[in-house]
Amino acid sequence: MKRQIFGADHEAFRRTVRTFLDKEVVPHHERWEQDGIVPRDAWLAAGRQGLLGIAVPEEYGGGGNDDFRYSAVLTEEFTRAGASGLAIGLHNDIIGPYLTSLATDEQKRRWLPGFCTGETITAIAMTEPGAGSDLQGIRTTAEDRGDHWLLNGSKTFISNGILADLVVVVARTTPEGGAKGLSLFVVERGTPGFERGRNLDKIGQKAQDTAELFFDDVRVPKENLLGERDGAFVHLMTNLPQERLSIAVAAIAGAEHLLETTTQYVKEREAFGRPLAKLQHIRFEIAEMATECAVTRTFLDRCITDHDRGELDAVHASMAKWWATELQKRVADRCLQLHGGYGYMSEYRVAKAFTDGRIQTIYGGTTEIMKEIIGRSLLS
Ligand SMILES: Cc1cc2nc3c(=O)[nH]c(=O)nc-3n(C[C@H](O)[C@H](O)[C@H](O)COP(=O)(O)OP(=O)(O)OC[C@H]3O[C@@H](n4cnc5c(N)ncnc54)[C@H](O)[C@@H]3O)c2cc1C
Repeated sequence: MKRQIFGADHEAFRRTVRTFLDKEVVPHHERWEQDGIVPRDAWLAAGRQGLLGIAVPEEYGGGGNDDFRYSAVLTEEFTRAGASGLAIGLHNDIIGPYLTSLATDEQKRRWLPGFCTGETITAIAMTEPGAGSDLQGIRTTAEDRGDHWLLNGSKTFISNGILADLVVVVARTTPEGGAKGLSLFVVERGTPGFERGRNLDKIGQKAQDTAELFFDDVRVPKENLLGERDGAFVHLMTNLPQERLSIAVAAIAGAEHLLETTTQYVKEREAFGRPLAKLQHIRFEIAEMATECAVTRTFLDRCITDHDRGELDAVHASMAKWWATELQKRVADRCLQLHGGYGYMSEYRVAKAFTDGRIQTIYGGTTEIMKEIIGRSLLS
């Protein structure tokens, strides 16, 4: 089915993104995977190309364009290219909204220009060794010490954890406050007491730096509180639907791309004297995956449109996230099987997609948590 959500400007932007990927990312990605990290130059190149801070107001150096379809195009193209190292989607779509919607004018002037040039790389740190799905279990504390906040605790699995210059940290400000006792702080690179752990060794997304972060008596200036004191939970609930939509957009793009690659493969690969594509089982596999992708694509495009109208709620974002990422996982597994032994070889795209994509049903809220959100909304 022809997609109906994009206009000529979005498609022109898609060409720009493809050119950027062909020139600045794809030729280097294998090396970045060996290094376990993307060089800062790649971020600066993305900034020069206008790919960072698309939704940031122009006065701070951004694109001034909050049409989420541009973000969707960017995510789709990065996913198709297998560019899982350069976490622009995280920076733009997940952390960007916290800064644009919650930061004061003074904070915006401090942080957003670098955000848009690529000089300031960002991360968001919610997860702790003892608290992932259940954020109420967060133990990192920020004590009000009059002229500063004293931050203590640790975080884990933080994307961009090594590269990040600004980290949005969720910390407890009211000990007995439950979910309502959490606040957001921006911790800047070089602040005494803020240390990074190792770059974690993952099964996929090898070029993405994912790290532990440690905060030991970190004096966070009062002017680095982001949003309302004790307001983190509300701020997270406001921004998580876009995070989940963004992950779902990557998921369906990944599934579609794998399907295209595999369809071509089964036409070319021969067994028992004829192409695999001539076997009914193979055709059914492709037919089933194509149907599931088409149905999912329709729902996702509707979610993107709803989001642009300010109408995407947490429940539908959760539906999009769990459904599309589980589809991506199934498609990756089936496509790998259709590649036979070659599918297990790292040099094949399907193998990389299999390991890169596996995290999708876990981060940004697991499939089980998405179903909890949906179930609660229907049954309470
Ligand atoms: C590569 C990578 C990048 C990440 N990036 C970031 C990042 O940038 N910032 C950040 O803050 N975090 C990040 N995370 C962390 C990620 O969001 C968490 O791993 C995720 O939320 C799950 O938390 P957990 O690992 O503690 O699992 P747990 O919460 O311990 O869950 C374990 C299992 O129990 C299930 N479970 C838990 N509660 C329930 C329930 N109520 N009902 C049913 N099942 C349940 C879960 O679904 C899961 O299957 C990242 C993780 C990875 C691996």
